Amino acid sequence: MTECGEWRLEQAMVNCGLPLVWHADRRFFCSRQAFARWAGDRTQLRMEDFYRGMRKRSGLLMQADGTPAGSAWNFDRENRKALPRKLHGPFPAHFPLDAITLEVIELVRARFSDHYGSLDGFDYPVTHAQAQSLWQHFLDFGLAAFGDFQDAMAEGEPFLFHSRISAALNIGLLDVRQLCADVDRAYRQGRVPLNAAEGYIRQLIGWREYVRGIYWLRMPEYAGLNGLGNQRALPEFYWTADTDMRCMAQVIGQTMALGYAHHIQRLMVTGNFALLAGIAPPEICEWYLAVYLDAFDWVELPNTLGMVMHADGGFLGSKPYCASGRYIQRMSDHCSECRYRVDHAVEEDACPFNALYWHFLMRHRQTLSDNPRLAPVYLNLNGLPAERRDALWQRGEQLLARLDAGERL
Ligand SMILES: Cc1cc2nc3c(=O)[nH]c(=O)nc-3n(C[C@H](O)[C@H](O)[C@H](O)COP(=O)(O)OP(=O)(O)OC[C@H]3O[C@@H](n4cnc5c(N)ncnc54)[C@H](O)[C@@H]3O)c2cc1C
Ligand code: SF4
Repeated sequence: MTECGEWRLEQAMVNCGLPLVWHADRRFFCSRQAFARWAGDRTQLRMEDFYRGMRKRSGLLMQADGTPAGSAWNFDRENRKALPRKLHGPFPAHFPLDAITLEVIELVRARFSDHYGSLDGFDYPVTHAQAQSLWQHFLDFGLAAFGDFQDAMAEGEPFLFHSRISAALNIGLLDVRQLCADVDRAYRQGRVPLNAAEGYIRQLIGWREYVRGIYWLRMPEYAGLNGLGNQRALPEFYWTADTDMRCMAQVIGQTMALGYAHHIQRLMVTGNFALLAGIAPPEICEWYLAVYLDAFDWVELPNTLGMVMHADGGFLGSKPYCASGRYIQRMSDHCSECRYRVDHAVEEDACPFNALYWHFLMRHRQTLSDNPRLAPVYLNLNGLPAERRDALWQRGEQLLARLDAGERL
């Protein structure tokens, strides 16, 4: 049988008492063994090193002399533009419901109608042909702007220039080798800029393969890590979207409606809030695994526990992705619609992300202040007048107490 996508399931198979022949999972470029060889006895793993090796081995976006296209490995700096007001993502691809899909929708409605999420407007590919047409739609209308607006978020724009293919890819309706070859060709034919092609290929042969490698390298102990000692329960509004924080309500609302949020929404809105609020890793991991259509343990766990919660002590990523409301303001238009004021930090109407951000840095000073990537942030914090730091701490304490009391924010 093919290697499983979850450690627990694979253990059940190993222990089932039947003689099994295991086959590598062709949904990935890098085998588990190759990843373990690459990791070797390195004390620190970094996605960028792994990714460069993958580019060289696959020849994707490489020049004949063995150097990367455009003479740089990574164009991440060109992938952080905020969305101009009048620009919209392409009209999304649609898929008519076939008889089997309708039958399954009715079955789910009958048996699980009280579960999270919505069955209305189900619009995902369920066959290889449909998945291909979703992919072609992205190549034609999304990829060229993917690079520039990869990190952008906007009201009423759940997909922007993202491909939406993760669920189809994870269940094997698409072939990752073909996707990468198509993107490479689109760049070589001059149909898309390099920052788009490189940005997209980095997600597929970089992040996707890297998080999977880490999962199989570190399971099962990885799932139990809690490097920052977080114990707080997940706030109820993760399940209901009932919060005045406009960014959170938007991301959670679209998650309930579509089972989808793009990477920056998951990382810098719902993930960032969980990190700043000190949510217990098992609670937030369970949420991400339950609510997204593309969720599998091998990809959800390292992304949530490692990338979002920094619970592995920096094994997967070199620093926690913590940010104040200013980041969300810069990358989205949510703040102008919000009850909270993003330019306030300690007042009653202040954006909760702001004081929680500084509270997070203060309460984990011992663990995080030696991290060279956080040095400028701690310099900023140390430069604040003592009364300002006290006020931020007090406001953070109040917000956390409100969460503990089960209040909505
Ligand atoms: C907390 C958290 C939990 C996540 N859980 C999942 C999950 O359960 N399943 C899942 O497939 N992805 C997960 N991701 C990664 C990423 O958010 C989704 O793959 C992406 O949003 C899917 O949308 P898309 O197909 O439009 O992606 P695009 O933005 O178009 O990106 C293209 C593809 O790159 C791959 N990719 C991009 N980023 C990552 C990443 N960090 N890790 C792995 N693959 C990546 C995906 O296959 C994706 O389809 C998670 C990210 C975070 C921060
Ligand atoms: S003000 Fe704060 S809570 Fe409101 S949308 Fe902006 S970042 Fe989110």
